Amino acid sequence: MARNVLVVGEFSEGEPSTTTHELLGAASRLSDGGAVGVTLLGSGASGAAAATFPAGAGKAFTNDDAEYDVFRSDQWLIAVLAAVEQSSPDVILIAQSTAGRELAPRLAFRLDTAAAMDCTMVQDEGGALQVTRPAYGGNALATYSFASSPAVATVRAKSQDPIAPNAGATGESVALPGVGESRTTVIGREKVEAEGLQIQDAAVVVSGGRGLGSPEGFELVEALAAAIGKDKAAVGASRAACDLGWYPPSQQVGLTGKVVTPDLYIAVAISGASQHMAGCSGSKTIIAINKDSEANIFKSARFGIVGDYKQVLPPLIEAIKAAK
Ligand SMILES: Cc1cc2nc3c(=O)[nH]c(=O)nc-3n(C[C@H](O)[C@H](O)[C@H](O)COP(=O)(O)OP(=O)(O)OC[C@H]3O[C@@H](n4cnc5c(N)ncnc54)[C@H](O)[C@@H]3O)c2cc1C
Repeated sequence: MARNVLVVGEFSEGEPSTTTHELLGAASRLSDGGAVGVTLLGSGASGAAAATFPAGAGKAFTNDDAEYDVFRSDQWLIAVLAAVEQSSPDVILIAQSTAGRELAPRLAFRLDTAAAMDCTMVQDEGGALQVTRPAYGGNALATYSFASSPAVATVRAKSQDPIAPNAGATGESVALPGVGESRTTVIGREKVEAEGLQIQDAAVVVSGGRGLGSPEGFELVEALAAAIGKDKAAVGASRAACDLGWYPPSQQVGLTGKVVTPDLYIAVAISGASQHMAGCSGSKTIIAINKDSEANIFKSARFGIVGDYKQVLPPLIEAIKAAK
């Protein structure tokens, strides 16, 4: 069934984000011949628009005003509503990002419709849109269809495939009206020091928990990640470990941390509380290393090693190095 789909895009340094490419891929598949639009807001938006056409957009709604560089949901809301008015979407796809989490419910409220958050699947099911999202901290999957239109859905990073780029594709750029007043004042911005591979982008995430016993325990976890490869593996941590000051909060995985979906998640001395699993249950394979054979993490793990990490990790690191 042909449907119009609008993607709320995000970009940095003139390039649409990876997630925007993924959302455009999902939008192209769902549209089935309908129109695919994308909104881009902030300095350089109209330049970034060019890259969205080969990725599946037919129309880009842009506003280059630097006011949009800092996300304020009330300002973004007005701009996205203007794009909605011009594109009459049946479906609006938004990244499950810091901006998307705040924008989607506000947008749904203003459009008198529903929002499904943190979807990992968006698909056509017999002509109707169906979305799937993890429930109960990732222990179950819930499938929803929409009784109202447009359907608003935030979509988890790396859950959708972009389309193969259509190099010759062109589209239309439409300038959105000027930026409105915001009721929010941003009083400061702090850039998190992020060196190397980010946990959301890593193919392998090795995470450490309170069972490491001390901050020094993370040296072995970091050594394991380094043995796997600095271009492949990044180090995460449980909230308990971060709260104890053993590892930076920017690396926390879970409900109140980051959601990661790597090919391989190695949980070292982590019990597997539901709030932690909410951040890693989408991993393709989970390996748990824990000295308690009854630990909850083993219920989610495909492979498990019962033992003290101090004994398990050194030979594992050596074996990985030797296998290279
Ligand atoms: C609202 C809310 C939000 C939360 N958000 C998050 C979140 O985002 N992320 C998160 O992680 N948590 C979150 N939590 C906390 C969560 O409930 C758990 O308390 C936390 O995940 C526990 O961390 P842990 O597994 O490292 O520690 P513990 O639960 O203390 O587990 C330590 C594990 O290490 C094992 N162990 C001990 N020594 C060794 C050893 N030598 N070798 C091998 N294994 C060993 C133990 O058997 C145990 O299983 C949240 C909680 C709440 C209430």
